[in-house]
Amino acid sequence: MTRARYRVDAGGDAAIARFVLPERLGFGPVLAPVMYRADWAEGEWGRGALLPYGMIEIAPGARALHYSELVFEGLKAYQVDHDRPNLFRPLDNCRRLARSAERLAMPVVPESLFLEAIDAVAGACSGIIPSRSGQALYLRPFLFGTESGYMLRNSTTFSFMVIANPVEAYATGPIKVAIERSDVRAAPGGVGAAKAGANYAASLRASSAAVARGYTIALWLDAHEHRYIQELSGMNLFAVIDGELHTPALDGAILPGITRDSLITLARHLGYVVRERLMALDEVLAQMRSGACSELFACGTAAIVAPIAALAEPDGAEHAAAQLDRVAAQLREALLAIQERRAPDPFGWTRDVAVAPAAAPGAPAVAG
Ligand SMILES: *Cc1c(COP(=O)(O)O)cnc(C)c1O
Repeated sequence: MTRARYRVDAGGDAAIARFVLPERLGFGPVLAPVMYRADWAEGEWGRGALLPYGMIEIAPGARALHYSELVFEGLKAYQVDHDRPNLFRPLDNCRRLARSAERLAMPVVPESLFLEAIDAVAGACSGIIPSRSGQALYLRPFLFGTESGYMLRNSTTFSFMVIANPVEAYATGPIKVAIERSDVRAAPGGVGAAKAGANYAASLRASSAAVARGYTIALWLDAHEHRYIQELSGMNLFAVIDGELHTPALDGAILPGITRDSLITLARHLGYVVRERLMALDEVLAQMRSGACSELFACGTAAIVAPIAALAEPDGAEHAAAQLDRVAAQLREALLAIQERRAPDPFGWTRDVAVAPAAAPGAPAVAG
C-alpha cells in the first residue's frame, strides 16, 4: 500500500520567505518556520502535511500528557559548503524510533514516512540552514499518544511530528559533569534504552540541580549498585585508559547513541583499541588519579564530542583527568568532517536530503 504524498500548506513557503537567520543561534531557541505532521487512527497512518510552525491542539486528557506516551529522535541536516543539505545515518534514527515505539507499544513510524517527514522539513529549510562548520539544522521527530482516558493501555490515536531548529553545537567547550549518587535514571527492563520522554522525567531533578550548581549535566550510575557508569542524561561517555577507548557496554538501561556507535567504528578505523565493558566509577576515578585514565569525553548528536573537564561529587569535590580534548578533538574533527561532507565517508553514513520542488498550494509535493 502506498500512502498519498504529503500536503504542503501554502503558509509554509511564506513563513520560510519571512524567516531571517539570527546571528546567535544557540541550541534550541531558534525555531525553523515549518513543521511536519501525520496522524495515526484506525490502525493506519493518514496523509502527512508540511505546515507553518505553530501551536498544536491536544486533548487535555491525552495519554502523552498523563502517561508520558511519547518517544522522540534527534538528528541533524548539514549544509556546509554545499547547496543541498545532507543527513547523517537517518535510517539509524528511524530504526531507533521504531525500537522506542515498540518498547512503549506504540505504532511504528515506517521508514517511508520517517524519511518523507525529514526530507520535507530539511528540504523546505535548505535556504535557512546555517552553513559554518559545527552549525546545522537539528531535526526533532516525535511520536505521541493523543487519546484521552485513564484506562491503563495505549492510545488508539497518535501523532508523528517533526520540528527543527537552526543550531550551533550544543556544548562548544569543555563541560563539567555532576555525579548523581542517589537518583536513578533507568534500570534494565525499563525504558532507558528507548528514547522516551519518561527517561528525561526521571533525570530532570538531577539535571536541574546540576545546572543550578554550575555543571552542564548529570552522570548516571547503574540502578542496582550505584557503582557502574551508565551515561550522561543525553550523552554517552568515553574514557581514554592506557591509550585505549573505553565506554560502558550497552546494558538495556543505557541509550544506544548513534554518535557512540559512530565513534566506536571511527576510532577503530583510526587505529584505536575500543572496549565496551562494565565500568566501575571508583575504578575510573582511581585511574584518573594514577594517570592511567588520561581523558574523558561525552558524545551525542547535539554536542558531537564534548571534552569533560571535571567530574564533581555531590559535596563539590572535583576529579579531573590529566588531559583535555586531545583524543576527543581528533575524533570530533574526524566525525564532523564526515558529517559535513568535507572528508570521504568510508562507512556510507551520509545521505542527501530529497529537496522537493516548490509546490502549488495544496498540491501534492513531489517528494522522494
Ligand atoms: C539521544 C540520547 C543520547 C545520544 O544519542 P545520539 O544518537 O548519539 O544523539 C544519549 N543518551 C540519551 C539518554 C539520549 O536520549
